[in-house]
Amino acid sequence: MQVAHPTARLNPLKAAIRVAVCGAALALAPAWADTAPAAASAGDDFFTYVNADWLKSVQIPADRSNWSNGAEMTELNNQRLKQLIEASAKGASGEVKKVTDFYSTSLDEAAIEGKGLAPLQQVLAPIAALKDKQQLTKALGASVRVDVDPLNATNFFTENIFGIWVAQGFTDPTHNTPYLLQGGLGLPDRAYYLDQNARMAELRSKYQAHIAATFKLAGMDHAEERAARVFALESKIAQTHGTREDSADVLKANNNWTAADFAKNAPGMDWKLFMQSAGLGKQQTFIAYHPSAIKGAAALVGSESLESWKDFLAFHTINHLHSAEPKALADEHFDFYGRTLSGTPQQSLRWKRSLAAIDDAMPDALGKMYVEKYFPASSKQYVQEMVSNIIASFHKRIDQLDWMAPATRKEAHAKLDTLYVGVGYPEKWARYDDLKVVQGDAMGNLLRAEKFHTQQELAKLSQPVDRTEWCMPAQLVNAVNMPMQNAINFPAAILQKPDFDPSFSDAVNYGAIGAVIGHEISHSFDDQGSQFDAKGLLRDWWTKEDGEHFKKASAVLVAQYSAYKPFPDLAINGQQTLSENLADLAGLAAAYDAYKAKLNGKDSAEADREFFTGYAQSWRTVMREPALRQRVLTDGHSPAQWRTYTVRNLDAWYKAFDVQPGQWLYLKPEERVRVW
Ligand SMILES: [Zn+2]
Repeated sequence: MQVAHPTARLNPLKAAIRVAVCGAALALAPAWADTAPAAASAGDDFFTYVNADWLKSVQIPADRSNWSNGAEMTELNNQRLKQLIEASAKGASGEVKKVTDFYSTSLDEAAIEGKGLAPLQQVLAPIAALKDKQQLTKALGASVRVDVDPLNATNFFTENIFGIWVAQGFTDPTHNTPYLLQGGLGLPDRAYYLDQNARMAELRSKYQAHIAATFKLAGMDHAEERAARVFALESKIAQTHGTREDSADVLKANNNWTAADFAKNAPGMDWKLFMQSAGLGKQQTFIAYHPSAIKGAAALVGSESLESWKDFLAFHTINHLHSAEPKALADEHFDFYGRTLSGTPQQSLRWKRSLAAIDDAMPDALGKMYVEKYFPASSKQYVQEMVSNIIASFHKRIDQLDWMAPATRKEAHAKLDTLYVGVGYPEKWARYDDLKVVQGDAMGNLLRAEKFHTQQELAKLSQPVDRTEWCMPAQLVNAVNMPMQNAINFPAAILQKPDFDPSFSDAVNYGAIGAVIGHEISHSFDDQGSQFDAKGLLRDWWTKEDGEHFKKASAVLVAQYSAYKPFPDLAINGQQTLSENLADLAGLAAAYDAYKAKLNGKDSAEADREFFTGYAQSWRTVMREPALRQRVLTDGHSPAQWRTYTVRNLDAWYKAFDVQPGQWLYLKPEERVRVW
């Protein structure tokens, strides 16, 4: 579970959106603006109260769908990484040379243009040659990649028929296991295919037009008919997909299937052939994360025409490889995913897209270069101390929970005691010795890097579980809790201004980055994290009464968030965002306690105000409307503005800002959610 800056770079759809972006700076008029006064008071709209000047002055850059502290840090990092790569290009050797070659090749649009469709046609030729369902099954197997991550990065999107994730088993913490997830959609979620409203209907017809345009630009005939077939097939796949809420429910996902179970549970496809082709032929045990979609897709392989599937494979191949294709195809991809889906007017500059491509291909090679230059030991030391203080305050909070039985308390303490916390960068960097980078071969580099990553991940199936392994690159502005590894990563890139600096006051550091640290620690105890024990085993360690208390308090938080309406016709889904909302609430409370402990009795109303102001400043964000709508529908996080409002659950906030009954955010003391 990540902290929330919408910058995940490993997901092709999100990556496309990240480098895309923007429209009229949607001054996020809250849906309840008619009840909130124009000049916000703290108690009516804490987000606007704190960030009013920033909101008035801020402009979303034309190549982005949003602007926020996270975006500011990301843009700064992009500049730094570009300079680092450019500065090391001359005389580079080994891994650094691979980075600079990959970058300069990806950057060379003229060379890509010069080759035209030839590199793409080479990739498409084997698809056109498929003669029967056996060959199709083999091709589908060969197309899957280790490209999703349901628990850590919460990335559920893949255009391939399925996504794979490699991690320790839900109930077997000592062995790595392949998880099979749903896939095969070009739109962000099943809701885009199935929701019956005008906006979704319009997006569907624009998507089908995008498929047709893509076929045409790739030089394929009968583009309209092919597009109709692809869209019809995807609509059928969408019907078998679990909802976004289902995806967050690990109990629904905990389905242990043997290799033999697939044929029995999901008939329609030759699973043996598929698994062999996917590099999983020797694997005996799996977790079927989305059983209904696995069943559905296999049945559709059996029932739908070979032509439909060939068009499906061809379209998603072209769509996915856009960053290495001629400009017309890359522009078409941006036009749909950037402009139409996210409302971003302008495609980001080529060098930013090339940087994103290296982020995907060789994240650690770039990370190593980044931290050497931009992550001082003083920052690491300060953050490590904050982490210890916040963990200590969490221990104290557990001891003070009057509703919790000693047995549950003991398990909770054990989880904190064994938590692995990584600050800045991993202890071991990934190596790229076996990755071949060829100067001038943009398409080949992209394909080889994706395959290399999948092979590295699949190799873990015969390696011991490593709890200290990182799942986020050091140069990514984000943070993550990995519930099964019982581990947290705070990448170097998020540990900087404006959210953190060793020279800032403790109040601001604890309110901003401290709340992020608290958030990640709290994920160990959210509705999902609390289902795993200190060893990362999916096991119910709660007494019955404690479990019920936790569920009841969670239900109040679900209702609190479901009442927020970013748009008159679209509310936040309190269940879909529960884990993140719980982590926000508990994380802020723990950071506040740690800050008070650090003040050592010298506290004042002014210090409290500074702390909460630091918190609300760290979440300042503006987002274009289509992008915000997509987030509300598909993201596990509530949008930043509404995350800020969790201050209303903390008594100290009322005192600091003299919040009174009748104000919009006011909750009676008994209505405030207190979980941890
Ligand atoms: Zn989170």
